[in-house]
Amino acid sequence: MRTSARYAPFCLLAAFALAVPTSAEEPAAQVSAADTGPQTNAATWECTAGHKIEKRRITLDSGTSRYTFLASGCVDPSHGDERPCSEGNFGMPDPTVANWYWGGFLQVLVNGKNATAYRISDMRVIETGARGAFQIVWAHPDAEVGLRLLMLPGGNHVLADLVWNPPPGASPKTVAVRLTCYPSFFTASRHRAGARHCQTPRTDLPQPQVLELVSAEDTWLYYYDTTFDVAKGEGGGPCAALVAPAGVAGGRVQIGDYAETTDLTLTPEAGEARLAFYDFTGRTNAEAEAYLKQHAGGDLKELTATDFRPAPGRTLQVETLRSEAEKLLADAGDDAQTFQPKVEDLLTRVEALKGQADARDWKAEGDLASLLANSSDLFWKLRAFAALNAP
Ligand SMILES: [Zn+2]
Repeated sequence: MRTSARYAPFCLLAAFALAVPTSAEEPAAQVSAADTGPQTNAATWECTAGHKIEKRRITLDSGTSRYTFLASGCVDPSHGDERPCSEGNFGMPDPTVANWYWGGFLQVLVNGKNATAYRISDMRVIETGARGAFQIVWAHPDAEVGLRLLMLPGGNHVLADLVWNPPPGASPKTVAVRLTCYPSFFTASRHRAGARHCQTPRTDLPQPQVLELVSAEDTWLYYYDTTFDVAKGEGGGPCAALVAPAGVAGGRVQIGDYAETTDLTLTPEAGEARLAFYDFTGRTNAEAEAYLKQHAGGDLKELTATDFRPAPGRTLQVETLRSEAEKLLADAGDDAQTFQPKVEDLLTRVEALKGQADARDWKAEGDLASLLANSSDLFWKLRAFAALNAP
């Protein structure tokens, strides 16, 4: 058509302008994820002097709450696949260094050995926008251990999906999780005495005691300190966890006068457990308790219903993508020639990765999400040419 040919450059620009979302067009509710990438420093307190420490931080921001996770470990070749680090390997430095411990709040013990203290085989942001998420995979010798952490828009907590995959034919004898928190304030290290508690839907115990958990009932664990309460002008505010009963055989909370340590015994055959973490920094104990009593049940349902697989691979239909691409190539006419090999290469890679991703290969799922995100530009251009040349 004469007019479209005459105005082709303008139309092409207009097509790009429409395709590229502007901040004004984006929905208000977005979750961002920021990754520092690996950073190294010379060991001081973390390991032997002269060794090199690798650290990497990823921050999830739901628009109302922001959480930063820190993976640390010594990468000196003398350690092989182990990554020692004296204050722990997987910590939560934001929103506060207390509560879920900044240096290391999470250990995953497979046959008694902590997976987070092994080599990281994959760590990357897997989603931003409608949800924000990242994954980290540790190369434990007895099972590959993967953790996905995810926030929803406006969310005040982080949803966690933990999986362990032993090599074919093998099965770990024991799998356990250890969580460490210092509710509201680092009491002992600041020479102050607190009054720690752990409350669940079923009970509430003060320090110093061991709380034996009933996994079917103790689905939320609220860690607080009655001395260090924001309502009294003391401390930073409490913290909490959700524990979905599936895959959890039992557990206990050691309510100490400094740390509160939670040990969850997982069912090795389950292969998966789901948790969530709350940091109520800035909130009073009464506010946090009221929140949990009112919302933890709903949050637990959401946690168990969440599909943690990254978009757009989660919803991808390879056949639909292929037929759409073929239609666009046909519509693009002569202009299709430059796109044909790129599109064919993309579809081949997508098909291969989708097959691996469907077999719960987290690296392939991450690669597929990246590939599709990076190919959006190719499809926008192809759509523009198809629109110009379509009969
Ligand atoms: Zn070292």
